[in-house]
Amino acid sequence: MFRGHKILKVLLFLIGIFCALIAEGVDKNTALIIDREIEKNRAEFIKTRRFFHMYPELGNREYKTAKLIASKLIPLGLEVKTGVAKTGVTALLEGGETGFTIAYRADMDALPIQELTEAPYRSLIPGVMHACGHDIHMSIALGTAVVLNSIKGKIRGSIKFIFQPAEEGPPPGEEGGARLMIKEGVLDRPPVGAIFGLHVWPENLGKVYFSAGPIMASSDWFRITIKAKSSHAARPHEGIDAIALASQVVLGIQTIISRTLDPADPAVITIGKISGGERSNTIAKEVQLEGTIRTLGEKNRKKIPQSIENIARGITHSYGADYTFDYRKGIPSVYNHPELAKIMLPTLFNLLGEENVKEMKPQFVAEDFSCYCQEIPGFFFFLGVKDPAKETSAPLHSPSFDPDERSIFLGIKIMCHLLLDCLHNPNYLERTSLAAF
Ligand SMILES: [Zn+2]
Ligand SMILES: [Zn+2]
Repeated sequence: MFRGHKILKVLLFLIGIFCALIAEGVDKNTALIIDREIEKNRAEFIKTRRFFHMYPELGNREYKTAKLIASKLIPLGLEVKTGVAKTGVTALLEGGETGFTIAYRADMDALPIQELTEAPYRSLIPGVMHACGHDIHMSIALGTAVVLNSIKGKIRGSIKFIFQPAEEGPPPGEEGGARLMIKEGVLDRPPVGAIFGLHVWPENLGKVYFSAGPIMASSDWFRITIKAKSSHAARPHEGIDAIALASQVVLGIQTIISRTLDPADPAVITIGKISGGERSNTIAKEVQLEGTIRTLGEKNRKKIPQSIENIARGITHSYGADYTFDYRKGIPSVYNHPELAKIMLPTLFNLLGEENVKEMKPQFVAEDFSCYCQEIPGFFFFLGVKDPAKETSAPLHSPSFDPDERSIFLGIKIMCHLLLDCLHNPNYLERTSLAAF
């Protein structure tokens, strides 16, 4: 019953947005103000981004980053909260007219990578770098807050800006990221009806990529420990060779995708680490295999670990060996609410031209924005950040990743329009109707 109630609320919310787009959209004057505000603040936006880039901080340790974010948001008069989910920051921008609340999330953490670019603003912190573009994400979110604040009297409803720590995962033994933000109530008080986010992408500036449905994969971890019996390498019949068994298990696992899953519902299993054995002339008694499982839906997500364990059990037991299987559920697949995605597309088409808004096959990388999408409708897209004059761009997580900073201005413009178009729904959809979210 609760679920049906929730679906009805989602439906009402989406109908509201749909009517809004037919009825209104960002008017010409407001669009001009947005452009003018971006133009006016360009130098400041770049300065902020370069600070983030020069002083990157790892997950749950984003102290300087959070301080700078708060120092930019408090003077705007927004309701700012710090220390959310450890180092996170939220800011509520209340428009001049009553309406419902939507959220925009940017992530804050950097990676343990030594930067190799020669940029004058390269990281000053040894072994830490914003190699996933979260510095750009924060700059776009801050810029969007500045620009929308300048027209807040015209906004119907509220926008909650969420600056989230530890997207790349918290340090071992700590909680963090989107899950902790949700646990600490970022989607409540006031209840948030939809959430938006973006990720930089090493394709041409001026293009965006989206998917109406799953856009990124779930990511789960597993480890198989094969427990066999050692003996002298020259007397294998007296032992049970864990390495020979591990080889069979690896090959067996390869057939899970190709022989047991629906080919139309893709998934990935990668074993990225094998360790075991003592010496070249000893039969190994133990081998560990560690890997990752990526899926786009919950059906495969549930089935694959069972299949992996079945293979490990079958092969080890048939040789008189044993095994243990450890499995840790990570983050779910990023799921763009199909109706919300469809409703937001005209905004992207108008801003960028239809030829620059590309539908993308789901990517098997993961993003914890997915956790918000499990609670409320979400829309997440990729923003091209490669200088079109350059042949190639270093990929995400590369020590040479160096996005084009002009993507900040375009990102701000896109987010301002998306958020306004989403909010400006007819008055019949009141904030109270979202209370059950
Ligand atoms: Zn990343
Ligand atoms: Zn990232």
